[in-house]
This record gives sequence, C-alpha cells and structure tokens, in this order.
Amino acid sequence: MDRNSRMKPSFVWIIGLAITLVSASCSRVPLTGRRQLNLIPESTMDQMAVSEYKSFLSSNSVVSSSSNKNVELVKRVGSRIAAAVTEYLKENNLSDRVAGYQWEFNLVDNKEANAWCMPGGKVVVYTGLLPITQDETSLAVVLGHEIAHAIARHGNERMSQQLVAQGIQMAGSVALDKNPQVQNIFLQSFGIGGNLGMLAFSRQDELEADELGLIFMAMAGYDPRQAIPFWQRMSKMAGGSAPPALLSDHPSDANRIAQIQKLMPTALKYYKPGQ
Ligand SMILES: [Zn+2]
Repeated sequence: MDRNSRMKPSFVWIIGLAITLVSASCSRVPLTGRRQLNLIPESTMDQMAVSEYKSFLSSNSVVSSSSNKNVELVKRVGSRIAAAVTEYLKENNLSDRVAGYQWEFNLVDNKEANAWCMPGGKVVVYTGLLPITQDETSLAVVLGHEIAHAIARHGNERMSQQLVAQGIQMAGSVALDKNPQVQNIFLQSFGIGGNLGMLAFSRQDELEADELGLIFMAMAGYDPRQAIPFWQRMSKMAGGSAPPALLSDHPSDANRIAQIQKLMPTALKYYKPGQ
C-alpha cells in the first residue's frame, strides 16, 4: 500500500468532521446577516460569563447602589437598552439570542474609561468612563455598542478563532469552560485578563456593533444623532496624553464617524423620542 492511499481515509474523515463542525457552528449576525463561526455552545459562554463576572465583581470595588446617582444612571440606561434589545430580537424572531440572559449592570470604581458586556447580559461600567460620556445619551451610545457586541456574539467568534489558531482540542462543552487556556482567551476577549492582554475587535465587528448599537439606543428613546458628537469628542481625546481605554479597542476616526453618519437614516426610523 502506498503512503497516499493509507492517508486517504483519515484525510476524508477530517474534512468531513470539519464540514460538520463548521456547518453546525455557523450562525448569522442579526441585521447584517454576516455568517460567523461560533464553535463554543452559547450555554458554555453564559456559564463562563456568570463565573468570570462574579469573580471580577468580587475582586473589584463595586459602587454601592444605595442612592448613588451614577449607579442609578448606569442601571437606568442599561435596563432601557436591554428592553430595546429584547423587543428588537422579538420583532425579528430572534428571541432565542437572549433566552439565557440575566441582565446585570454594575458600576465599578476604576479610573479607566471603559465598559463591557459579557454574554448573558453581564455589564460593567468603569467610573472613569462617566466624565467622558458626560451625559445619559452618550452613555447610551457606549452601552448600546457594548451590548451589541454581546448580541452579535463577537466574543464567541473571537474565542473560536483563537481556539483554532492555538489548536486547542474541543473536548466537549463540560471540559471547555474548565480549561485554563480557554478561560484566559475568554478574559482576553473582554480585556479583563490583566497582563494577558486584549484580543482586539476587528473593524468589521466594530461596524456591526455600531450599526446594532445605534438601533438599540434609538429604540430605547435616546437620540442616535448624539453618537456623532460623542465619537468626535472621543476622536479628539485619542490624540491626547492619556487616551481613554475605550479607544484602544474602539478607534474613533473619520472612517468610523462617516460610517455612523451613513447608518443614521436607518437608526432614526427606530427612534422613539420622549420616553
Ligand atoms: Zn466595540
């Protein structure tokens, strides 16, 4: 038997497995319809988020909610966007996207200007973001965008790409969330892995999050047109001596602002002022 014919069956098997895996794990991003690779079951992502969120909150200083107006602000904006997301997905027969979500919004005492949303609706805003957002509508721009990343499952997609790149064995969903390498990739996906560094969102992810985020904020009753002066302000800060952490992951440039301007007529169709 020559070498080629001996290798053939396993080669065919591997291709077959790859096709099965890819077709089973390809989903489409809401609104844009882009196909994406999500290798990790969403239930596993939610489980990891619950435990990593808990551990993040216990090792950081959460601002107490007792009559703190900034905590109230974060919870109010977050809840309004969450309600809009739920409505948007329901209207598009995509409610299963948030079926396992148990929304939580926490303000953490940290001078970094940052915010993120893990799968399952686990949101953190850093106190350092509030002097930059300055008003409720600008906070809605950021939260709409961060929540859109979660709804579009960008974290799962980035993790899937890393798993493939690092050749990590997919040994089943139970083992996956206990795998320290996978846990590290999860933390890197949200920029909370400390010295592990950050896996940057792609330009495409950023555009999708802007597109969905504008619709979510508009449906929540916040004027999406305010996103333009907000990102222009951020763009000016990017050249300063201490650019906000949010910008390391969200380059605010003329390109981004032009894209947001292009999306505005669609976003305005969803705008329900005066809520
Ligand atoms: Zn982003």
